[in-house]
Amino acid sequence: MPPEAALRPWPASLDLSGRVAVVTGASRGIGRAIAVVLAERGATLVVNYAKGEAAAREVCAAIEQAGGKAVALGFDVGDDSAVDAAIKHVVETLGGLDILVNNAGVSIDALMMRARAEDFDTLIRTNLRGTFLCSKAATRHLLRAKNRGRIINLTSVVGEQGNAGQSMYAATKAGVIGLTKSLARELASRGVTVNAVAPGFIDTDMTQAALTGDARSALLTQIPLGRVGDASEVAEAVAFLASPAASYITGHVLRVNGGLLI
Ligand code: NAP
Repeated sequence: MPPEAALRPWPASLDLSGRVAVVTGASRGIGRAIAVVLAERGATLVVNYAKGEAAAREVCAAIEQAGGKAVALGFDVGDDSAVDAAIKHVVETLGGLDILVNNAGVSIDALMMRARAEDFDTLIRTNLRGTFLCSKAATRHLLRAKNRGRIINLTSVVGEQGNAGQSMYAATKAGVIGLTKSLARELASRGVTVNAVAPGFIDTDMTQAALTGDARSALLTQIPLGRVGDASEVAEAVAFLASPAASYITGHVLRVNGGLLI
């Protein structure tokens, strides 16, 4: 064990030293929190963004100020050539890839009578195609990482139980679960695990409309723990699945929802 590991306030089973991790959509919200926690545990972070370059650089600065290592990398997860080039660049510059967190996501809500096909395409492109493209580009490198290789996909409580007004978004998140379980079976023989984390309602930009005024009060009555979640609580679940402690868990959907769905 390196001397600095002995000083860390967590056990070796949660240590991510020496790993390279890509977190998509890490410029804000849950992705930002995931990047910060993985870096705290010792991983070198690639902080992906789409439009928020300044925010992503700020995330990297915060990680570096805390003693971690991070680089910002802009690419659109729905663009196959951009994804391929980005993963190639990561492997060439950082020496490999051990952990992929498919977090980038968008949400557009509409009742079916008002739903628009172009919005459905937008959701599929980022949430499902993005998860597919990044996983596809990363897989050969994760196989080289062997037992350290991890994919963690962000799904949602609504991907499991549905929600009125969220048919389009829920379809993408249910798709992520199917992809997770199939890829888990495909990569298991090589020691690479593939899991999903399903948050309930977490306080981020994405949920601002749903988490204000009367809507917030109504929602809180549905959550047994009586509050919305914090992005850091999702990040802890992701960090666990990324760690050696979770080496025998694959194809799992870990709910982080305050009891909203049990
Ligand atoms: P958020 O605050 O809206 O942040 C979304 C992130 O995704 C941003 O960093 C954004 O980057 C990035 N992004 C969007 N489109 C992208 C693209 N095409 N390529 C690369 N990055 C892209 O969302 P969040 O609440 O943190 O959600 C994170 C994930 O958790 C999503 O998959 C979401 O569906 C899931 N989730 C969230 C909740 C919740 O309650 N918040 C619940 C269940 C599941 P830029 O800012 O740089 O454009």
